[in-house]
Amino acid sequence: MASSSVKVAVRVRPFNSREINRGAKCVIQMQDKSTCIANPKQPKEAPKNFTFDYSYWSHSSEEDPSFASQRKVYQDIGEEMLLHAFEGYNVCIFAYGQTGAGKSYTMMGKQDPGQQGIIPQMCEDLFRQTADNTDPDLSFSVEVSYMEIYCERVRDLLNPKSRGSLRVREHPIMGPYVEDLSKMAVTNYSDIADLMDTGNKARTVAATNMNETSSRSHAVFTILFTQRRHDNMTSLDTEKVSKISLVDLAGSERADSSGAKGMRLKHSTKKRRSDFIPYRDSVLTWLLRENLGGNSRTAMIAALSPADINYEETLSTLRYADRAK
Ligand code: ADP
Repeated sequence: MASSSVKVAVRVRPFNSREINRGAKCVIQMQDKSTCIANPKQPKEAPKNFTFDYSYWSHSSEEDPSFASQRKVYQDIGEEMLLHAFEGYNVCIFAYGQTGAGKSYTMMGKQDPGQQGIIPQMCEDLFRQTADNTDPDLSFSVEVSYMEIYCERVRDLLNPKSRGSLRVREHPIMGPYVEDLSKMAVTNYSDIADLMDTGNKARTVAATNMNETSSRSHAVFTILFTQRRHDNMTSLDTEKVSKISLVDLAGSERADSSGAKGMRLKHSTKKRRSDFIPYRDSVLTWLLRENLGGNSRTAMIAALSPADINYEETLSTLRYADRAK
C-alpha cells in the first residue's frame, strides 16, 4: 500500500518586509508534524489542526532545531526521492501554494550558499553518487529538460528561441511526452547548473513579455536518469530508467478563482487515498500521469504564508495538502 502514498510536507516562510511593515501577525503554529492555523477574525474559534509527514517552521533562528533550512528539506524529502530513483522508480516532487508563499524558493531557491532549493541539491547529489560508483559494469546517463506550461501551452525553457508551443503526444511504451522538447545530456553538476540558469532566465523573460509574473505558469524540470548494467557473460546491457519530475506549480489562488477544484487522478481501493493535481490543465495532468500512478513515488510540499491577511488562502492550501495524503 505504501507504494501509492504521497509524502506530504508543509512549509511556512518567514515574513517578508511588507508584512513586517504592516505589523502582520502569524496565524500558523507548528509542533513536530502538526500544523495549526488560527482564524484572525474569530479569535474564539478553536484553531484548526493538521498533521503531515513534515511541518517546516522558519520563524526561529537557523540554529534552532525546529528551523527548516534548505538543507533539511532536501535531506528529508529529496534524499528519499533520489534513493527511489536509484531503485528505478519514477519520482515526482511538486510544490503547491499561493503565489509568494515559497514554492520557487523551495524547489529552486537562490544561488547563495545554503539557499539552494531541492532541484540543485538533488542534481548535485545525483552526480556525487554516480561518481562514487566503483562497479565497472554499471554506467549512468543523465538527460535534462525544462519546460513551462502556460495556458495549456508548453514552452521549451532550454531553447528559448523556439517559437510557439510544443505538441504533447503519447508514445506507446514510454507514455506521454512533449514533441521536440530539448533533452540535454549532462555529465556533471556544472552542466546542469548552466541549464537551470538558462531556463530560469527564459522563464523570467517570458513572464515579463507577457506582462505577467510567472505565477500563472507551471515549471517542470525533468531528469531522465538511466542506469545501464553490462552483463559480461551475455554481453548484453540492461537498463533501468527513472524519470524525476520536479514541478513548481502555478499559484494555487488561480486554480481556486477559476473554479478548478482538486482533480482526482487515481483512486486506490480501501482507504480514501487519491492523488490530486489541483488544476484543470489537461497538459500538466497528462504529462504527470505516469508520475502519479503505480510505479512512482511522489512528494508534495505545500508552501504557506504566515500572515493573517492570507488566512483564507493558507487554510485552503492546508486542506488541499491534507487531502493529498
Ligand atoms: P512562490 O514561488 O510561491 O511565488 P517564492 O518562492 O518566490 O514564492 O517566495 C517569495 C519570497 O519569499 C521570495 O523572495 C523568497 O526568497 C522568499 N522565501 C520563500 N520561502 C522562504 C523561506 N523558507 N525562507 C526564506 N525566504 C523565503
